[in-house]
Amino acid sequence: HNDRSILILIPMLFTELGLSEPILRAIAEHGYTSPTPIQAQSIPAVLQGGDLLAAAQTGTGKTAGFTLPILQRLSTSPHANHATKRPIRALILTPTRELAAQVHESVQTYGKFTSLKSAVIFGGVGINPQIAAIAKGLDILVATPGRLLDLMQQGNVSLKQIEILVLDEADRMLDMGFLRDIKKILAALPKERQNLLFSATFSTEIKALADGLLNKPALIEVARSNSTNDAIAQKIHPVDRTRKHPLLSHLIKSNDWHQVLVFTRTKHGANKLVTQLEKDGITAMAIHGNKSQTARTKALTDFKANKITTLVATDIAARGIDIDQLPHVVNYDLPNVPEDYVHRIGRTGRAGANGEAVSLVCVDEHVMLKDIEKLIKQTLPREVIAGFEPDPNAVAQPIQLRSNQPHQRNNGQRNKAQGQAKPQHNSAPKKSGQPNANAPNSKPRHAKPKAKPNGNFAPRSR
Ligand code: AMP
Repeated sequence: HNDRSILILIPMLFTELGLSEPILRAIAEHGYTSPTPIQAQSIPAVLQGGDLLAAAQTGTGKTAGFTLPILQRLSTSPHANHATKRPIRALILTPTRELAAQVHESVQTYGKFTSLKSAVIFGGVGINPQIAAIAKGLDILVATPGRLLDLMQQGNVSLKQIEILVLDEADRMLDMGFLRDIKKILAALPKERQNLLFSATFSTEIKALADGLLNKPALIEVARSNSTNDAIAQKIHPVDRTRKHPLLSHLIKSNDWHQVLVFTRTKHGANKLVTQLEKDGITAMAIHGNKSQTARTKALTDFKANKITTLVATDIAARGIDIDQLPHVVNYDLPNVPEDYVHRIGRTGRAGANGEAVSLVCVDEHVMLKDIEKLIKQTLPREVIAGFEPDPNAVAQPIQLRSNQPHQRNNGQRNKAQGQAKPQHNSAPKKSGQPNANAPNSKPRHAKPKAKPNGNFAPRSR
Protein backbone atom coordinates (compact mmCIF):
# COMPACT_ATOMS: atom_id res chain seq x y z
CA HIS A 1 0.00 0.00 0.00
CA ASN A 2 2.94 2.27 0.35
CA ASP A 3 6.62 2.44 -0.55
CA ARG A 4 7.42 -0.56 1.55
CA SER A 5 5.18 -2.92 -0.35
CA ILE A 6 6.85 -1.88 -3.57
CA LEU A 7 10.24 -2.75 -2.14
CA ILE A 8 9.00 -6.14 -1.06
CA LEU A 9 7.60 -6.88 -4.50
CA ILE A 10 10.99 -6.55 -6.14
CA PRO A 11 12.84 -9.79 -5.48
CA MET A 12 16.25 -9.21 -4.09
CA LEU A 13 19.16 -11.53 -4.54
CA PHE A 14 21.49 -12.94 -1.91
CA THR A 15 24.38 -11.65 -3.98
CA GLU A 16 23.30 -8.07 -3.21
CA LEU A 17 23.74 -8.37 0.53
CA GLY A 18 27.49 -8.19 0.83
CA LEU A 19 28.06 -11.85 1.69
CA SER A 20 31.33 -13.52 0.80
CA GLU A 21 31.81 -16.13 -1.90
CA PRO A 22 32.06 -19.27 0.28
CA ILE A 23 28.80 -18.33 1.98
CA LEU A 24 27.01 -17.44 -1.25
CA ARG A 25 28.14 -20.77 -2.69
CA ALA A 26 26.61 -22.66 0.25
CA ILE A 27 23.35 -20.71 -0.09
CA ALA A 28 23.18 -21.43 -3.82
CA GLU A 29 23.92 -25.09 -3.23
CA HIS A 30 21.11 -25.18 -0.70
CA GLY A 31 18.79 -23.88 -3.41
CA TYR A 32 17.99 -20.40 -2.10
CA THR A 33 18.17 -17.43 -4.43
CA SER A 34 16.25 -14.60 -2.77
CA PRO A 35 16.49 -13.61 0.86
CA THR A 36 13.28 -13.52 2.87
CA PRO A 37 12.28 -10.04 4.14
CA ILE A 38 13.90 -10.60 7.51
CA GLN A 39 17.10 -11.82 5.89
CA ALA A 40 17.21 -8.82 3.57
CA GLN A 41 17.11 -6.58 6.64
CA SER A 42 19.07 -8.52 9.24
CA ILE A 43 22.05 -9.63 7.12
CA PRO A 44 23.34 -6.11 6.31
CA ALA A 45 22.57 -4.97 9.86
CA VAL A 46 24.54 -7.80 11.48
CA LEU A 47 27.39 -7.42 9.00
CA GLN A 48 27.76 -3.82 10.15
CA GLY A 49 28.55 -5.14 13.60
CA GLY A 50 25.90 -3.44 15.71
CA ASP A 51 23.28 -4.93 18.01
CA LEU A 52 19.96 -6.11 16.64
CA LEU A 53 16.46 -6.47 17.99
CA ALA A 54 14.28 -8.49 15.65
CA ALA A 55 10.60 -9.28 15.92
CA ALA A 56 10.26 -12.53 14.03
CA GLN A 57 8.69 -15.92 14.42
CA THR A 58 9.92 -19.20 13.06
CA GLY A 59 8.95 -19.60 9.46
CA THR A 60 10.29 -16.19 8.48
CA GLY A 61 13.80 -17.38 7.69
CA LYS A 62 15.26 -15.81 10.81
CA THR A 63 17.76 -18.62 11.37
CA ALA A 64 19.65 -17.85 8.16
CA GLY A 65 19.07 -14.19 8.98
CA PHE A 66 21.56 -14.43 11.83
CA THR A 67 23.59 -17.51 10.83
CA LEU A 68 24.78 -16.14 7.48
CA PRO A 69 26.21 -12.83 8.69
CA ILE A 70 27.76 -14.48 11.76
CA LEU A 71 29.55 -17.01 9.55
CA GLN A 72 30.71 -14.17 7.36
CA ARG A 73 31.98 -12.02 10.23
CA LEU A 74 33.87 -14.84 11.87
CA SER A 75 35.34 -16.25 8.67
CA THR A 76 36.54 -12.91 7.35
CA SER A 77 38.16 -11.82 10.61
CA PRO A 78 39.92 -14.95 11.79
CA HIS A 79 40.89 -15.05 15.40
CA ALA A 80 44.35 -13.61 15.70
CA ASN A 81 45.99 -15.99 18.07
CA HIS A 82 46.47 -19.22 16.16
CA ALA A 83 48.97 -20.51 18.69
CA THR A 84 46.18 -21.44 21.08
CA LYS A 85 43.07 -23.53 20.67
CA ARG A 86 40.20 -21.87 18.80
CA PRO A 87 38.20 -19.82 21.26
CA ILE A 88 34.41 -19.82 21.04
CA ARG A 89 33.57 -16.54 19.34
CA ALA A 90 29.84 -16.85 18.73
CA LEU A 91 27.25 -18.23 21.14
CA ILE A 92 23.69 -18.96 20.01
CA LEU A 93 21.18 -19.73 22.76
CA THR A 94 17.85 -21.40 21.96
CA PRO A 95 14.99 -22.52 24.21
CA THR A 96 14.65 -26.11 23.06
CA ARG A 97 16.87 -28.98 22.00
CA GLU A 98 15.07 -29.34 18.68
CA LEU A 99 15.63 -25.71 17.84
CA ALA A 100 19.28 -25.93 18.92
CA ALA A 101 19.77 -28.92 16.63
CA GLN A 102 18.09 -27.12 13.73
CA VAL A 103 20.09 -23.95 14.18
CA HIS A 104 23.27 -25.98 14.29
CA GLU A 105 22.24 -27.74 11.11
CA SER A 106 21.96 -24.31 9.46
CA VAL A 107 25.38 -23.28 10.78
CA GLN A 108 26.85 -26.40 9.21
CA THR A 109 24.95 -26.07 5.96
CA TYR A 110 25.85 -22.45 5.34
CA GLY A 111 29.33 -22.72 6.82
CA LYS A 112 30.41 -25.76 4.84
CA PHE A 113 32.83 -23.80 2.62
CA THR A 114 34.35 -21.90 5.53
CA SER A 115 36.86 -23.41 7.93
CA LEU A 116 34.76 -22.52 10.98
CA LYS A 117 34.06 -25.22 13.56
CA SER A 118 30.81 -25.51 15.46
CA ALA A 119 29.00 -27.74 17.94
CA VAL A 120 25.60 -28.00 19.56
CA ILE A 121 24.98 -28.85 23.20
CA PHE A 122 21.71 -29.55 24.99
CA GLY A 123 20.38 -31.59 27.87
CA GLY A 124 18.87 -35.06 27.79
CA VAL A 125 21.87 -36.64 26.10
CA GLY A 126 25.33 -37.61 27.35
CA ILE A 127 27.53 -34.72 28.43
CA ASN A 128 30.91 -36.33 27.67
CA PRO A 129 30.78 -36.13 23.87
CA GLN A 130 29.84 -32.47 24.29
CA ILE A 131 32.81 -31.86 26.58
CA ALA A 132 35.04 -33.56 24.04
CA ALA A 133 33.66 -31.47 21.16
CA ILE A 134 34.27 -28.25 23.08
CA ALA A 135 37.77 -29.35 24.09
CA LYS A 136 38.74 -29.69 20.43
CA GLY A 137 38.17 -26.01 19.85
CA LEU A 138 35.18 -24.29 18.31
CA ASP A 139 34.25 -21.01 16.71
CA ILE A 140 30.49 -21.26 17.13
CA LEU A 141 28.51 -22.89 19.92
CA VAL A 142 24.76 -23.48 19.76
CA ALA A 143 23.28 -24.34 23.15
CA THR A 144 20.26 -24.53 25.37
CA PRO A 145 20.82 -22.52 28.55
CA GLY A 146 20.58 -25.31 31.14
CA ARG A 147 23.22 -27.61 29.70
CA LEU A 148 25.51 -24.72 28.88
CA LEU A 149 25.37 -23.57 32.48
CA ASP A 150 26.21 -27.10 33.67
CA LEU A 151 29.26 -27.14 31.44
CA MET A 152 30.27 -23.66 32.54
CA GLN A 153 29.97 -24.57 36.20
CA GLN A 154 32.09 -27.67 35.66
CA GLY A 155 34.71 -25.52 34.00
CA ASN A 156 34.35 -27.25 30.65
CA VAL A 157 33.60 -24.23 28.56
CA SER A 158 35.03 -20.75 28.44
CA LEU A 159 33.01 -17.87 27.02
CA LYS A 160 35.63 -15.21 27.64
CA GLN A 161 36.19 -14.55 23.96
CA ILE A 162 32.62 -14.38 22.73
CA GLU A 163 32.26 -11.70 20.09
CA ILE A 164 28.66 -12.36 19.05
CA LEU A 165 25.74 -13.51 21.20
CA VAL A 166 22.36 -14.57 19.80
CA LEU A 167 19.26 -15.09 21.89
CA ASP A 168 16.91 -16.97 19.59
CA GLU A 169 13.21 -17.15 20.50
CA ALA A 170 13.96 -15.11 23.59
CA ASP A 171 10.27 -15.02 24.56
CA ARG A 172 10.18 -18.81 24.68
CA MET A 173 13.30 -18.92 26.79
CA LEU A 174 11.68 -16.65 29.35
CA ASP A 175 8.42 -18.64 29.18
CA MET A 176 10.42 -21.73 29.99
CA GLY A 177 11.95 -20.14 33.06
CA PHE A 178 15.44 -19.60 31.67
CA LEU A 179 15.84 -15.94 32.64
CA ARG A 180 18.12 -16.65 35.59
CA ASP A 181 20.27 -19.03 33.57
CA ILE A 182 20.56 -16.48 30.80
CA LYS A 183 21.64 -13.81 33.26
CA LYS A 184 24.34 -16.11 34.66
CA ILE A 185 25.55 -16.86 31.16
CA LEU A 186 25.59 -13.17 30.23
CA ALA A 187 27.69 -12.43 33.30
CA ALA A 188 30.39 -14.77 31.99
CA LEU A 189 30.67 -13.00 28.62
CA PRO A 190 33.04 -10.17 27.76
CA LYS A 191 31.39 -6.74 27.88
CA GLU A 192 32.42 -5.79 24.33
CA ARG A 193 30.36 -7.90 21.98
CA GLN A 194 27.59 -7.87 19.39
CA ASN A 195 24.16 -8.91 20.66
CA LEU A 196 21.28 -10.17 18.54
CA LEU A 197 17.89 -10.78 20.10
CA PHE A 198 15.07 -12.53 18.26
CA SER A 199 11.61 -12.78 19.72
CA ALA A 200 8.14 -13.37 18.34
CA THR A 201 6.40 -11.39 21.08
CA PHE A 202 7.42 -8.45 23.25
CA SER A 203 6.28 -8.72 26.82
CA THR A 204 7.50 -6.37 29.53
CA GLU A 205 10.07 -9.02 30.52
CA ILE A 206 11.49 -9.24 27.02
CA LYS A 207 11.67 -5.49 26.77
CA ALA A 208 13.52 -5.35 30.08
CA LEU A 209 15.94 -8.03 28.90
CA ALA A 210 16.49 -6.21 25.61
CA ASP A 211 17.01 -2.88 27.39
CA GLY A 212 19.72 -4.33 29.59
CA LEU A 213 21.39 -6.28 26.82
CA LEU A 214 21.32 -4.25 23.65
CA ASN A 215 23.21 -1.13 22.76
CA LYS A 216 21.41 1.09 20.24
CA PRO A 217 20.06 -1.91 18.36
CA ALA A 218 18.89 -1.89 14.78
CA LEU A 219 15.20 -2.69 14.89
CA ILE A 220 13.64 -5.15 12.50
CA GLU A 221 10.13 -6.37 12.31
CA VAL A 222 8.65 -8.71 9.78
CA ALA A 223 5.39 -10.57 10.22
CA ARG A 224 3.37 -9.05 13.01
CA SER A 225 3.13 -11.34 15.97
CA ASN A 226 -0.30 -12.78 16.62
CA SER A 227 -1.21 -12.53 13.00
CA THR A 228 -1.59 -15.64 10.94
CA ASN A 229 -0.08 -16.27 7.59
CA ASP A 230 -2.37 -15.82 4.59
CA ALA A 231 -0.86 -18.87 2.91
CA ILE A 232 -2.52 -21.04 5.54
CA ALA A 233 -6.11 -22.12 4.97
CA GLN A 234 -7.76 -22.45 8.35
CA LYS A 235 -10.91 -24.38 9.17
CA ILE A 236 -12.86 -25.49 12.19
CA HIS A 237 -14.57 -28.88 12.24
CA PRO A 238 -17.17 -28.86 15.02
CA VAL A 239 -17.38 -32.36 16.50
CA ASP A 240 -18.35 -34.18 19.68
CA ARG A 241 -15.67 -34.68 22.33
CA THR A 242 -15.64 -38.47 21.88
CA ARG A 243 -15.73 -38.38 18.07
CA LYS A 244 -12.50 -36.51 17.52
CA HIS A 245 -10.38 -39.56 16.99
CA PRO A 246 -12.68 -41.21 14.40
CA LEU A 247 -12.97 -37.84 12.65
CA LEU A 248 -9.21 -37.45 12.47
CA SER A 249 -8.77 -40.94 11.01
CA HIS A 250 -11.54 -40.16 8.53
CA LEU A 251 -9.89 -36.89 7.46
CA ILE A 252 -6.47 -38.49 7.03
CA LYS A 253 -7.84 -41.42 5.03
CA SER A 254 -10.47 -39.70 2.92
CA ASN A 255 -8.17 -36.82 1.98
CA ASP A 256 -5.17 -39.08 1.55
CA TRP A 257 -3.01 -36.93 3.87
CA HIS A 258 0.58 -38.10 4.07
CA GLN A 259 2.26 -35.74 6.48
CA VAL A 260 0.15 -34.45 9.32
CA LEU A 261 1.35 -32.70 12.45
CA VAL A 262 -1.28 -33.13 15.16
CA PHE A 263 -1.34 -31.14 18.39
CA THR A 264 -2.80 -32.47 21.60
CA ARG A 265 -3.04 -30.64 24.88
CA THR A 266 -1.48 -33.36 27.02
CA LYS A 267 1.27 -35.96 26.77
CA HIS A 268 -1.23 -38.62 27.80
CA GLY A 269 -3.56 -37.45 25.05
CA ALA A 270 -0.72 -37.67 22.54
CA ASN A 271 0.15 -41.25 23.52
CA LYS A 272 -3.48 -42.34 23.47
CA LEU A 273 -4.06 -40.85 20.05
CA VAL A 274 -0.99 -42.59 18.61
CA THR A 275 -2.38 -45.96 19.76
CA GLN A 276 -5.80 -45.18 18.32
CA LEU A 277 -4.45 -44.06 14.97
CA GLU A 278 -2.28 -47.12 14.70
CA LYS A 279 -5.34 -49.30 15.29
CA ASP A 280 -6.87 -47.54 12.30
CA GLY A 281 -3.84 -48.41 10.21
CA ILE A 282 -2.34 -44.90 10.28
CA THR A 283 1.34 -44.72 11.19
CA ALA A 284 2.00 -42.32 14.03
CA MET A 285 4.54 -41.35 16.66
CA ALA A 286 4.38 -38.96 19.60
CA ILE A 287 6.81 -36.26 20.54
CA HIS A 288 6.61 -34.74 24.01
CA GLY A 289 8.57 -34.03 27.13
CA ASN A 290 8.30 -37.53 28.60
CA LYS A 291 10.00 -39.07 25.57
CA SER A 292 13.73 -39.54 25.59
CA GLN A 293 15.78 -37.30 23.37
CA THR A 294 16.53 -40.31 21.16
CA ALA A 295 12.84 -41.10 20.74
CA ARG A 296 12.05 -37.46 19.95
CA THR A 297 14.80 -37.23 17.36
CA LYS A 298 13.71 -40.51 15.76
CA ALA A 299 10.07 -39.47 15.57
CA LEU A 300 11.02 -36.19 13.95
CA THR A 301 13.43 -37.80 11.50
CA ASP A 302 10.92 -40.48 10.47
CA PHE A 303 8.24 -37.87 10.06
CA LYS A 304 10.42 -35.61 7.95
CA ALA A 305 11.43 -38.60 5.80
CA ASN A 306 7.75 -39.51 5.27
CA LYS A 307 8.20 -42.84 7.05
CA ILE A 308 5.25 -42.07 9.29
CA THR A 309 2.08 -40.21 8.37
CA THR A 310 1.32 -38.56 11.66
CA LEU A 311 3.41 -36.84 14.28
CA VAL A 312 1.46 -36.13 17.45
CA ALA A 313 3.00 -33.35 19.52
CA THR A 314 2.42 -31.21 22.56
CA ASP A 315 3.07 -27.48 22.29
CA ILE A 316 6.42 -27.32 24.02
CA ALA A 317 7.83 -30.30 22.12
CA ALA A 318 6.78 -28.82 18.82
CA ARG A 319 8.26 -25.41 19.44
CA GLY A 320 10.59 -24.42 16.69
CA ILE A 321 10.18 -27.67 14.78
CA ASP A 322 10.93 -26.82 11.22
CA ILE A 323 9.67 -29.11 8.51
CA ASP A 324 9.91 -27.87 4.98
CA GLN A 325 6.53 -27.41 3.34
CA LEU A 326 4.48 -29.21 5.95
CA PRO A 327 1.06 -29.53 4.30
CA HIS A 328 -1.28 -30.24 7.24
CA VAL A 329 -1.54 -29.17 10.83
CA VAL A 330 -4.39 -30.48 12.96
CA ASN A 331 -5.39 -29.03 16.31
CA TYR A 332 -6.81 -32.14 17.89
CA ASP A 333 -7.28 -30.06 21.02
CA LEU A 334 -7.26 -26.29 20.95
CA PRO A 335 -4.39 -24.78 22.92
CA ASN A 336 -5.35 -23.11 26.17
CA VAL A 337 -3.03 -20.20 25.45
CA PRO A 338 -4.43 -18.45 22.36
CA GLU A 339 -0.95 -17.38 21.18
CA ASP A 340 -0.04 -21.06 20.88
CA TYR A 341 -2.61 -21.37 18.09
CA VAL A 342 -0.56 -18.96 16.00
CA HIS A 343 2.65 -20.82 16.82
CA ARG A 344 1.09 -24.19 16.01
CA ILE A 345 -0.34 -23.32 12.64
CA GLY A 346 2.87 -21.50 11.80
CA ARG A 347 4.36 -24.97 11.27
CA THR A 348 2.59 -25.09 7.93
CA GLY A 349 2.58 -22.68 5.01
CA ARG A 350 6.19 -21.69 5.69
CA ALA A 351 8.41 -19.64 3.44
CA GLY A 352 5.69 -19.16 0.88
CA ALA A 353 4.35 -22.73 0.71
CA ASN A 354 0.63 -23.31 1.06
CA GLY A 355 -0.65 -25.17 4.04
CA GLU A 356 -3.83 -26.18 5.73
CA ALA A 357 -4.65 -25.99 9.42
CA VAL A 358 -7.78 -27.63 10.75
CA SER A 359 -9.06 -27.61 14.31
CA LEU A 360 -11.35 -30.24 15.78
CA VAL A 361 -13.46 -28.30 18.22
CA CYS A 362 -15.93 -29.73 20.71
CA VAL A 363 -18.37 -27.88 22.94
CA ASP A 364 -15.83 -27.70 25.80
CA GLU A 365 -13.55 -25.55 23.68
CA HIS A 366 -15.92 -22.84 22.50
CA VAL A 367 -14.50 -20.25 24.92
CA MET A 368 -10.97 -21.04 23.76
CA LEU A 369 -12.02 -20.74 20.15
CA LYS A 370 -13.52 -17.32 20.84
CA ASP A 371 -10.28 -16.19 22.49
CA ILE A 372 -8.27 -17.40 19.50
CA GLU A 373 -10.53 -15.66 17.02
CA LYS A 374 -10.27 -12.47 19.04
CA LEU A 375 -6.48 -12.70 19.00
CA ILE A 376 -6.17 -13.34 15.27
CA LYS A 377 -9.01 -10.93 14.51
CA GLN A 378 -10.85 -13.32 12.22
CA THR A 379 -13.78 -15.67 12.44
CA LEU A 380 -12.66 -19.04 11.21
CA PRO A 381 -14.92 -20.94 8.82
CA ARG A 382 -16.85 -23.84 10.38
CA GLU A 383 -17.36 -27.00 8.40
CA VAL A 384 -19.31 -29.88 9.80
CA ILE A 385 -18.21 -33.20 8.30
CA ALA A 386 -21.07 -35.52 7.30
CA GLY A 387 -21.33 -38.36 9.79
CA PHE A 388 -19.59 -36.34 12.52
CA GLU A 389 -22.29 -33.77 13.28
CA PRO A 390 -21.99 -32.60 16.87
CA ASP A 391 -24.85 -33.18 19.28
CA PRO A 392 -26.65 -29.79 19.49
CA ASN A 393 -27.62 -30.48 23.09
CA ALA A 394 -24.11 -31.27 24.31
CA VAL A 395 -23.08 -29.46 27.50
CA ALA A 396 -19.58 -28.08 28.02
CA GLN A 397 -17.35 -29.77 30.59
CA PRO A 398 -14.23 -28.30 32.17
CA ILE A 399 -11.12 -29.13 30.19
CA GLN A 400 -8.55 -31.42 31.72
CA LEU A 401 -5.60 -29.45 32.97
CA ARG A 402 -2.83 -29.96 30.56
CA SER A 403 -0.34 -32.35 32.03
CA ASN A 404 2.56 -31.28 29.89
CA GLN A 405 3.20 -27.92 31.40
CA PRO A 406 6.93 -28.27 31.67
CA HIS A 407 7.86 -25.04 33.26
CA GLN A 408 6.89 -23.30 36.37
CA ARG A 409 6.88 -19.63 36.92
CA ASN A 410 9.43 -20.38 39.56
CA ASN A 411 11.18 -17.10 39.96
CA GLY A 412 13.65 -18.04 37.36
CA GLN A 413 14.79 -21.13 39.14
CA ARG A 414 16.17 -23.45 36.58
CA ASN A 415 14.10 -26.26 35.31
CA LYS A 416 16.78 -28.90 35.15
CA ALA A 417 14.88 -31.18 32.86
CA GLN A 418 14.36 -28.45 30.29
CA GLY A 419 10.86 -29.19 29.31
CA GLN A 420 10.76 -32.60 30.91
CA ALA A 421 9.63 -31.79 34.39
CA LYS A 422 7.02 -34.06 35.85
CA PRO A 423 3.55 -32.60 35.85
CA GLN A 424 2.81 -30.90 39.13
CA HIS A 425 -0.84 -31.86 39.11
CA ASN A 426 -2.39 -34.65 37.20
CA SER A 427 -6.01 -33.94 37.63
CA ALA A 428 -8.00 -30.96 36.66
CA PRO A 429 -9.28 -28.62 39.28
CA LYS A 430 -12.95 -29.43 39.07
CA LYS A 431 -14.45 -26.51 40.87
CA SER A 432 -14.19 -23.98 38.10
CA GLY A 433 -16.39 -23.90 35.07
CA GLN A 434 -13.73 -21.89 33.30
CA PRO A 435 -11.38 -24.31 31.66
CA ASN A 436 -7.98 -24.09 33.28
CA ALA A 437 -8.82 -21.03 35.25
CA ASN A 438 -7.02 -22.62 38.17
CA ALA A 439 -4.14 -24.12 36.30
CA PRO A 440 -1.23 -23.35 38.57
CA ASN A 441 1.41 -23.10 35.94
CA SER A 442 -0.32 -22.09 32.80
CA LYS A 443 -0.36 -18.58 31.51
CA PRO A 444 -3.61 -16.84 32.23
CA ARG A 445 -5.86 -17.36 29.27
CA HIS A 446 -7.12 -13.89 29.50
CA ALA A 447 -3.71 -12.40 29.86
CA LYS A 448 -3.50 -8.77 29.04
CA PRO A 449 -2.61 -8.43 25.40
CA LYS A 450 1.07 -8.63 24.74
CA ALA A 451 2.59 -5.45 23.50
CA LYS A 452 2.77 -5.64 19.78
CA PRO A 453 6.24 -5.16 18.41
CA ASN A 454 4.91 -3.05 15.59
CA GLY A 455 3.72 -0.58 18.13
CA ASN A 456 7.16 -0.23 19.57
CA PHE A 457 9.44 0.37 16.72
CA ALA A 458 9.37 1.27 13.14
CA PRO A 459 10.62 -1.03 10.39
CA ARG A 460 14.05 -0.23 9.09
CA SER A 461 14.02 0.78 5.52
CA ARG A 462 16.48 -0.77 3.18
P1 AMP B 1 13.24 -20.25 9.99
O1 AMP B 1 12.29 -19.11 10.22
O2 AMP B 1 14.65 -19.83 10.11
O3 AMP B 1 12.90 -21.41 10.87
O4 AMP B 1 13.08 -20.73 8.46
C1 AMP B 1 11.84 -21.14 7.97
C2 AMP B 1 11.96 -21.96 6.70
O5 AMP B 1 12.26 -21.16 5.59
C3 AMP B 1 13.01 -23.03 6.74
O6 AMP B 1 12.43 -24.21 6.25
C4 AMP B 1 14.08 -22.55 5.82
O7 AMP B 1 14.75 -23.63 5.23
C5 AMP B 1 13.30 -21.74 4.83
N1 AMP B 1 14.07 -20.64 4.27
C6 AMP B 1 14.89 -19.80 4.95
N2 AMP B 1 15.42 -18.88 4.14
C7 AMP B 1 14.94 -19.11 2.90
C8 AMP B 1 15.12 -18.46 1.61
N3 AMP B 1 15.89 -17.38 1.48
N4 AMP B 1 14.47 -18.97 0.56
C9 AMP B 1 13.68 -20.05 0.71
N5 AMP B 1 13.45 -20.70 1.88
C10 AMP B 1 14.07 -20.23 2.97
